Amino acid sequence: MNKTVVQVSGVTRTFMVSQGFLRGKKPLHAVNGIDLAINQGDVVALVGESGCGKTTLAKMILGLLPPTSGTIKIDGQPIDQMKRLDIARNLQPIFQDPYSSLNPRKSIGSIITLPLKVQKDSNPETWRQRVEEMMEIVGLPARLYNNYPNQLSGGQRQRIAIARALINNPRIVICDEPTSALDVSVQSQILNLLQELRQKLGLTYLIISHNLAVVEHIATKVAVMYLGHIVEEAATETLFASPGHPYTQALLQSVLTPDPDLGIPDTHLGAAYPNPIDPPSGCTFHPRCQFAFETCRHDLPQLKQAKDRKIACHLSDNPNHRNSHK
Ligand code: SF4
Repeated sequence: MNKTVVQVSGVTRTFMVSQGFLRGKKPLHAVNGIDLAINQGDVVALVGESGCGKTTLAKMILGLLPPTSGTIKIDGQPIDQMKRLDIARNLQPIFQDPYSSLNPRKSIGSIITLPLKVQKDSNPETWRQRVEEMMEIVGLPARLYNNYPNQLSGGQRQRIAIARALINNPRIVICDEPTSALDVSVQSQILNLLQELRQKLGLTYLIISHNLAVVEHIATKVAVMYLGHIVEEAATETLFASPGHPYTQALLQSVLTPDPDLGIPDTHLGAAYPNPIDPPSGCTFHPRCQFAFETCRHDLPQLKQAKDRKIACHLSDNPNHRNSHK
């Protein structure tokens, strides 16, 4: 097995949310006791509905948000003991929206040069050449160096964001919905570019996506999140061929809707996604689960290693309850 480059252990993040005048604040457990290992060369996808905690987890791995408890290590070193610049040297983000993540008043050359200036560890005389080389690697002609983002298409802008993320040779890239703001015709070009760059530059990715078609195309491992917990984690092929958790099954069934722009569509689960400030008792998925039985209403299932995956569901120990619903 490849070396673990990011290790997330028992990480929680709680926000205190105001309940209105005179009603005080209540805790919202956005991320609730997550363990996750990302190995060198992995493409790990975090999937789940909006509000499940995937972006909060990614921000903590980037060092942009401190965990309430638990540890995150990069190459065995806790990130709370690393300098901001050292984290940035190892990990870089690519955000969802290339329209808002690029400064419209800066030229493309200066946008991609900025991380080199911040890291200050190379000769400024080499910057222009490095930026032009990186532009070529991501498929942008060097002649666009002095152009501005508003002169380019959405796909080209996302290529600028990728070039900016990669200019300091990070090993790990965190992609938050990297294609969801793009036209469908451009999405596959950007995904293919990310795949090529992974091979060429030996990158490791953490992809946050609600688009399961994207995840199946690019990920090597998938972690499914629900209300701050990972409920299933498996190799992509295994998970898509035989989803084990009832929530994963519902997500995959919902992919059959025809409009890819809808992201994770209505899961046809009946009950709405619960309020994270007031989560259900026991297994937090139980109000929406067709297999729920008495234990599910009061005991929270732990994420356990099964044969070919990790899964948090009481059915793993009580398969007869699933059979009784057939
Ligand atoms: Fe459904 Fe129970 Fe499994 Fe939760 S633990 S997913 S409620 S069967």
